[in-house]
Amino acid sequence: MVRRTIAAAAAAGLIVIVGHGTGLREQPAGGTGAVANLAGKVLTVKGPIDPSALGPTLTHEHIFIDFKAPPPMMPPPTGIRVIQDSPKERRGGLTDYGESLAEIMEFRKVGGGTIVDLSNFGLTRDPEALLRVSNDSGLNVVMGAGWYMKTLHPPDMDERTVEDLTAILVRDITVGAQGTRVRSGVIGEVGTGAFGDRGPLTENEIKSVRASARASRITGAPIVIHSFAPPAELQRALDIIASEGVALDHVAMAHTGTGNVEAMKRYTDRGAYVEFDFIGQAPGVMGSRGTLEQGAERVAADIRALIDAGLTDRVLLAHDICIQGQLKRNGGGGYAYISNMVAPALRAKGVSEATLRRILVDNPARLLTFVAPQPPLAPR
Ligand SMILES: [Zn+2]
Repeated sequence: MVRRTIAAAAAAGLIVIVGHGTGLREQPAGGTGAVANLAGKVLTVKGPIDPSALGPTLTHEHIFIDFKAPPPMMPPPTGIRVIQDSPKERRGGLTDYGESLAEIMEFRKVGGGTIVDLSNFGLTRDPEALLRVSNDSGLNVVMGAGWYMKTLHPPDMDERTVEDLTAILVRDITVGAQGTRVRSGVIGEVGTGAFGDRGPLTENEIKSVRASARASRITGAPIVIHSFAPPAELQRALDIIASEGVALDHVAMAHTGTGNVEAMKRYTDRGAYVEFDFIGQAPGVMGSRGTLEQGAERVAADIRALIDAGLTDRVLLAHDICIQGQLKRNGGGGYAYISNMVAPALRAKGVSEATLRRILVDNPARLLTFVAPQPPLAPR
């Protein structure tokens, strides 16, 4: 019901902006279509916090993940649970609570502050598990929202309108996800493209991108795009987001990071962030770049090139841990690989502590900070 109310209010341009720090959980049951103004705050699974409290932040991880298409969206998706399967049944995802907790504690031990978990529909998001692991680890956790790659869209995606999808996202951010009171603080990772697919964005992908933009405008939440589509199609996704009245400096393009300055500038010149991620695989595991040391050296060399080109404030760095072969227990770098190996490799290339702090602390905080909610643009 809340979803319908917000959707109707949004469609009619009647979104009501209420006072700072007032969450919808304080609204009367049934909702009013009001959207709390979280401008200047970061929304974690435990609620809004000041960006200065984030500390070193990993902008793109999966504490829990299971690649699986969700059930139909009507009725609303609820009850997606972390599967406590045995190691021998594990399909390569991250579905064991104790294992995931132990792995993220490695980040905590090296001074980490915040993990953004971008598991969303298609990646088996579990809001209550994220709340629990935030409490147990002492780390801030920011939860994603939205639809991952088209190969993992729910079976009723064709029938859902942009308005339907927008309403689900707005509810996740303002009320809570999947029937819980745990709120998403970022929209992503929003699927574009797929493995080995170089085609144009599909109609469903366009709906998902457009809904993500509208929900970002209505709530003030940032967006992270899963950038597997070809470069021209990624520019088109940015066009769609901009056309919905969202500033592109609130958008991160995941999986784009390379040392190719000209290619990176096509995103950063528009304000978007580029992100280095999916790193720290054990040697021989999909996507590994030789030994962990060699992988860190390559990432550091690429980032150094972007720093030299003046792009420091547009660079994000995360592991995108999503497979077993990235975990420390399996010979991967784990959630502390950036701290333990990439940061030292950057220092060895003359990168200062101040510059490291901009990349590891300041850029994530700027991306994740909500802006003021705005009514959706009038239909054109
Ligand atoms: Zn991705």
